[in-house]
Amino acid sequence: MCLQHDYVFQCNHRAFARFDNCPNFGRTCYGAGGTHNELLVQDICSDCKTRPFDPNPKGRLNDPYRAANRRAIEGGGGKN
Ligand SMILES: [Zn+2]
Ligand SMILES: [Zn+2]
Repeated sequence: MCLQHDYVFQCNHRAFARFDNCPNFGRTCYGAGGTHNELLVQDICSDCKTRPFDPNPKGRLNDPYRAANRRAIEGGGGKN
C-alpha cells in the first residue's frame, strides 16, 4: 500500500510532504487512499508566517470591486 506523507503545522494547516509508492502501484494498488501519515512540524506554515507582513492585511475587507458593487446596488444609479 502506498503512503502519502503530510506536514501538519502548529497552526493546523497541512501541506503535502511526499508520496511513497509501493511496488504494486498501478497494478493492484491505486494510491494511498485516505490514510495519510502525519509529519508534525514544530512551526507554523509559511502562509501564516508571511501574513503579519502583508502590506494590506485588510485588503479583502475593503476590496474596491466589492465596494463599487455595493455602491452600485445601494445607490441605484445615483449621481456618480
Ligand atoms: Zn500502493
Ligand atoms: Zn498556517
